[in-house]
Parts: sequence; structure tokens; C-alpha cells
Amino acid sequence: MPLVNAKEMLTKAKAGHYAVGQFNINNLEWTKAILLTAQELNSPVILGVSEGAGKYMCGYKTVVGMVNGMLEELKITVPVALHLDHGSYEGAKACIAAGFSSIMFDGSHYPIEENVEKTKELVATCEELGLSIEAEVGSIGGEEDGVIGAGECADPAECKMIADLGVTMLAAGIGNIHGKYPENWAGLSFETLDAIQQLTGEMPLVLHGGTGIPADMIKKAISLGVSKINVNTECQLAFAAATREYIEAGKDLQGKGFDPRKLLAPGFQAIKDTVKEKMELFGSVDKA
Ligand SMILES: [Zn+2]
Repeated sequence: MPLVNAKEMLTKAKAGHYAVGQFNINNLEWTKAILLTAQELNSPVILGVSEGAGKYMCGYKTVVGMVNGMLEELKITVPVALHLDHGSYEGAKACIAAGFSSIMFDGSHYPIEENVEKTKELVATCEELGLSIEAEVGSIGGEEDGVIGAGECADPAECKMIADLGVTMLAAGIGNIHGKYPENWAGLSFETLDAIQQLTGEMPLVLHGGTGIPADMIKKAISLGVSKINVNTECQLAFAAATREYIEAGKDLQGKGFDPRKLLAPGFQAIKDTVKEKMELFGSVDKA
């Protein structure tokens, strides 16, 4: 099945009170692990690509070529969207040209008027080409690929203003943070989330920084309209831990343990296990 945009899968998720996971990719192992898990669990999935990861993988055309090749050769039949994560205005245009099926335009650091103008223009382009588009209001805390957010709570009225521009999905800061959560984290602001949902109605809401948010908070967020949850750091931590264990056990020194296909296998499996756990928690299993 070729790439699809994220609109239909998220509309269904919002109506069915579950969330679709966005898992960020970094290379072939990451992409293959996520796609195979989605297929095994019969779950829709969104592959996220940050601008930094896109650059790391040689550029957006390489990413599109790799993902399209895998969809065909792994015989993936579940809905898969290829989505630019935290895109700049220029990055969004480059991904649209390269063949992504979905983009995020993160205009949260612009004054609201400029965020509105740029979002409007990209909404029109995406509409014409059949892509989905995510916008962000209120910066999300922590650091992701050099983009540092203060972790503020979005203004629900501004969320409504951006939602009305015709975006497919809306990310709003509700006290969530990219990366690991600090010990003294105050938790998600469900009052903010509830106020945003009241104003934006059917609009699927996006929760960034899904790593380490306790399961009960995830479930509550889904019940309040979150239909897409971004997971990035958690797969990185799982991959690193499994690879460390392999090396520390000296397995790379035994026989052909240095073969990259053996060396990277535990990390690959760890990503699969993490994705499975998240899809079960988000409720997207058998929702393809
Ligand atoms: Zn994010």
C-alpha cells in the first residue's frame, strides 16, 4: 500500500478514542522495525522525520525512496504516513517536493500573526496535493534537534484560531516536554487540554514528547481528544540499552558477532518491543 496522509487514520482514532503513534526514524533499522511491528499488530502508523534526521539520512529524497521501497518489499498493507516532524517553513516545502505524505509546520516560535500567515499558505498547498498538515501552538518543552521549547501551556483561543485555518491536526503545549522528563515535572495540564478540545471540537490533537509520560496520563489525554502521540527518545533509549548489553557481554568478539546484521539485531528488536508496547497502550492495535 502506498503512503497515505494522516487525515483518515486520525479522524478514525479521534472517533474511536484511541491514538496513532508517530515513531521517529533515524535509519534503515528504525524504519524496518517500526513498519514490521505496525504490520504485525495491524495498526496504522506515522513515521516521523525531524529535519536533523532527514539530513542524517542524506536528505528527504533518500528517506522517501527508502520508505517507499520498504512498503513494497515488506508488503506493508496497514496505513503508513511519512511525516515531517517540527518542520521549518523551508523544510516543509522541501518535504512536500520530495514526496512526504504529511508535514508539520512548527511556527510556534513566530508571533501568532506570522504563524497564521505561514500556516495558511502551507495548508493551501497541502490541500491541493492531498497531504495532511500539523500545526503547533505554544512551544513544547525540552530540546529536539536544536529546537528548544519552554514547555508552556498553549492559549486555547490561539489553538482555535490555528485549527480554523484548515490544518489536519493540532499540537498544543500542555506541559509536555521532549526527551526525558525531569524528576520535578508537574505533569500534563488536563485543564488546558480540555479547554483546547472544547474549542477545537473534532480536530485531532497531538501529544509530543510521549517518552516517559505515565500510562494513566496517556489514557486520560486520549480521552480528552489526543489522537496522535509522538514517540522518539524512548526508541533511542531502548536501542542504546540493548546495543550496550550486547557489547558489554562481549558478543561482538565471539565468532562473527561483529557483523552489523548481528550487532544491530538486539537494538532492532528493542525498537520493535517499544513500538509494540506503545501501540498497545495507545489502543491502535487492529485499527488498520
Ligand atoms: Zn515534538
